Amino acid sequence: MLTPSAAAIAWFAGLVGWYIIRQPFERKAKKVGVSKSLFDRRESGLLMFAVLGLFVVPLLYVLTGFPALFDRPFRPWVAWLGIVAMAAALWLFRRSHVDLGRNWSISLQVREQHALVKTGIYRLIRHPMYSSFFLLGIAQMLLLPNWFAGLSGIAGAGLLFAFRVRREERMMLESFGDDYRAYMAQTKRIIPWIV
Ligand code: SAH
Repeated sequence: MLTPSAAAIAWFAGLVGWYIIRQPFERKAKKVGVSKSLFDRRESGLLMFAVLGLFVVPLLYVLTGFPALFDRPFRPWVAWLGIVAMAAALWLFRRSHVDLGRNWSISLQVREQHALVKTGIYRLIRHPMYSSFFLLGIAQMLLLPNWFAGLSGIAGAGLLFAFRVRREERMMLESFGDDYRAYMAQTKRIIPWIV
C-alpha cells in the first residue's frame, strides 16, 4: 500500500536520482570550451523559477505541509502513476544527456566544436531534456497530494520552456543554418509527432 509519506519519499528519491544523473555531465562540461553564450540575467531568472517550482516549493510542502489550504485527497493509484512518470522522467533525462554528450550546457551556449545532434532520442524530438522536466513536474503533481506544491513544478518547467525554446532555436539556427532548419522540419519539440 502506497502511503502519502512513501509517495513523498519517492518524489525525493527521484530528485536525488536526477542530481546523480547530472553530476558526471556537469563535470565533463566544465572541460569543454564555450564559443558563444547567451547566459544572462533572464536565463538565470528562468533557472531560478525552475528550481523553485521543481524543488523548493515541493520540499517546503513535504517538510511542513504548507500550504495546507490546497491539500487534495491522496489516492494510491494516482501516486503509483506518479512513480511511473518519475521513472520515465529519469530515463529521458539520462537518455538526452547521453545523446547530447559534450554539447550539453545548463544554459544557452554553443560549445567549441559544437556538433548538431540528430540521433538517438533527438531523432524524435528537438528538446527531450525539456520533455523530461515536464515529466518530472507531472510526477510531482501525481505524487504530492497538494495542488500548489503539485503544480508548481509544471509551472517552473513551463516558464523555462516558454521563455527559452524560441531563443534556443534561434541560436541553433544562427550556428547551424540550413542543417538545423531541415532538422526542425523533420521533428517536433517535446512530444514525438505532436508538438
Ligand atoms: N533543448 C535541448 C537541449 C538542452 S541543453 C533539450 O531539451 O534536449 C541546452 C543546450 O543544448 C543549448 O545551449 C544548445 O547549445 C544545445 N543543443 C540543443 N539542441 C541541440 C542539438 N540538437 N544538438 C546539439 N546541441 C544542442
